[in-house]
Amino acid sequence: MTVGGSIEWRRRWRVASLVACGLAVEAVVAMGLAWADQAAVQGSGASGEQTAALWAKAAWRLLERGDARAAGQAFAAAGQVTGERAELLVGAALASDRLGDEEGGLRRLNRALELDNESAAAHRVAGFWAERRGDVREALGHYQAAIRLDPNDADVRDRLASVRPAVRFEETLDRLYAPHFVVQFRGDRDRATARVAADRLEVAYTRVGELLLAFPDGAVPVLLYPGDDLAGATDSPRWVRGLFDGRIHVAADAVRDAGARDALLVHEYTHAVVHRLSHGRAPTWLQEGLALYCERRLAGTGRSDRSDRHRGGMVSPASTASLADRPSEEVSRAYRESESMVDALAARYGRERIHRLLRALSSADRFDTAFEASMGEPFHVFEARVLAERRRPAGPRVESAASRGK
Ligand SMILES: [Zn+2]
Repeated sequence: MTVGGSIEWRRRWRVASLVACGLAVEAVVAMGLAWADQAAVQGSGASGEQTAALWAKAAWRLLERGDARAAGQAFAAAGQVTGERAELLVGAALASDRLGDEEGGLRRLNRALELDNESAAAHRVAGFWAERRGDVREALGHYQAAIRLDPNDADVRDRLASVRPAVRFEETLDRLYAPHFVVQFRGDRDRATARVAADRLEVAYTRVGELLLAFPDGAVPVLLYPGDDLAGATDSPRWVRGLFDGRIHVAADAVRDAGARDALLVHEYTHAVVHRLSHGRAPTWLQEGLALYCERRLAGTGRSDRSDRHRGGMVSPASTASLADRPSEEVSRAYRESESMVDALAARYGRERIHRLLRALSSADRFDTAFEASMGEPFHVFEARVLAERRRPAGPRVESAASRGK
């Protein structure tokens, strides 16, 4: 298969991986409610069964409403009456995941599959989660099982259509294993570049880790694209040299550019760390601002001067309005604002509390709640102070001066 032929699946993969988690929850809640109703009817003779069915129904409703903590407790209550059951474990797994406990979620999901390897819902969720991790091969196996058990599942059918060619494409890539990264590349020409990428990423691992106080376990997947393939394969503008969507995607040419590669790799790796700490729940301004913050400190890049390398989808910190598909100067301004917000955050609260904020975001329902719990004051107070500083006509900006590099 040519790389050009992979454009369509890449684009669909990218969009799908963003919505995969939401799809998994929504449809599985409906399945869970149907199970609970069925259990209530079947168990009407036995009081314990009916109690469990009521707990299960309440649990699925709570999950549907987004109250994952209460849902987890209700699933546990149902399980105490009936003993371990696959359908309850799938619900408990979704609740754990929603609370930011990905590991606990996966453990419960695997247990559900052990108990009942014929659970379409369990395979469905396992497929979405594998795809989210970038493990398209494992996703394929679960989707195949799910569609065999429930041939009418249109979401799974759609995911299968995307994942099949993805698996075939990745089979054509070679892999290079580093302690914290797996770099996939094509052909001998890019082997040396993959080695350079892995070495520089290992340096970024240590140095970004020191800034964000985080040294994640496991290996981050990295895809290295020959020529102009990155833009086509990820449906990005031509000027994009790298992006992060659960995996790091970089152009091999950009890695061969010794003057630019560290900035690029530090930037994309910072996205990976922020994603890991916050479980993908950091607002876009914070993700981009932190990436630029680390990039500037570790690679000496000037303020936001590489920001338009990135694609749209940014969020302006002040308005939180989406800037996707806006003119490029507006996008650049959003990057500059994101960067100065993060400078102000670092100057006022320090890196340890930023770390705490990212962790809090992984399980908080709202950004404001996580912010106040981590920083000790509401976000609007901080934001108003930053805006007031910005309006000040002359003189040093006290808040961000300390953290501003030259
Ligand atoms: Zn970025």
